[in-house]
Amino acid sequence: MKSASAKLYKQLKNQKVRCLACQRQCLITPDQTGFCLTRQNHHGKLRSLTYGAITGIQIDPIEKKPLYHFYPGAKVASIGSYGCNFHCKQCLNHPHSWGELATQILKSQLAGIKPVSPEKIIREVKKTKAPGIAFTYNEPVINPEFIRDTARLAKKEGLFTVMVTNGSWTRQALDYYGQYIDAANIDFKGFSSTTYQKMGAYFGQIPALAQYAQKKHKIHLEVTTLLIPTINIKPRELKKMASWMVKNLGPKTPWHLSRFSPDLAPDQKFARLPPTSINQLQQAAQIGRQAGLQFVYIWAPTAGCQKW
Ligand code: SF4
Repeated sequence: MKSASAKLYKQLKNQKVRCLACQRQCLITPDQTGFCLTRQNHHGKLRSLTYGAITGIQIDPIEKKPLYHFYPGAKVASIGSYGCNFHCKQCLNHPHSWGELATQILKSQLAGIKPVSPEKIIREVKKTKAPGIAFTYNEPVINPEFIRDTARLAKKEGLFTVMVTNGSWTRQALDYYGQYIDAANIDFKGFSSTTYQKMGAYFGQIPALAQYAQKKHKIHLEVTTLLIPTINIKPRELKKMASWMVKNLGPKTPWHLSRFSPDLAPDQKFARLPPTSINQLQQAAQIGRQAGLQFVYIWAPTAGCQKW
């Protein structure tokens, strides 16, 4: 697959570059890729290796993202690509992020994958009659040029646009594509670097940039937390997270609490953890409500979705 010129980066001395797409801000030397394997330094210029490399278009209910307070009941054309800037031990999208196929594809620089242009994607989405498009399945912030071009076109065609993200976008990235994004579901995995590290993720400036997305770019935000026993269910940390949300994103921000299922965890240690109990989900929901959040939802396969 042909790579595309990246826009979000800085050129430095000795043909090094600094990628500005996500909060890792990788320093990349010639011929090397950043942490996500999708952005490569080519003679001192950054190239995106996954521009237009989509895994397909799937029509999902918007509640599956999950977004409950944005176009309720709508179907959304969902597209994903390959790679991620986190290496989460509980990843639910492992095949697209770091699974064998994704890693092989990324290491061989997407050989055999035919890029699809934003124009073609939007044409296909319009045929489905879905009123909007979601960038989901793998982490979209690592593909900012593709997100911007596709979302801009989508807006021109009257479609709404959604990102399902870990929230590791940078301020520069939000200033680059935020005006074309209507809503996002951000995964808050915890509220400390220690918790994020335990999972193989990177806390960075996620809360501050969520606030920036909402305040500066008017992006409708909903937050999801996958509750993992022994990893991120300490009441003190959950309380801190919920209180922060009330104060900085507003008490009407929906908080989706979901159940960890060890069968889906790619990491062997995480695969041996117990699943989240209904009791643990209810306790976390109560913490959210007591902190002042007005819309807390729990999702567990046996109990379905409930508002608390
Ligand atoms: S998107 Fe993030 S992980 Fe990937 S190269 Fe850029 S800064 Fe590094």
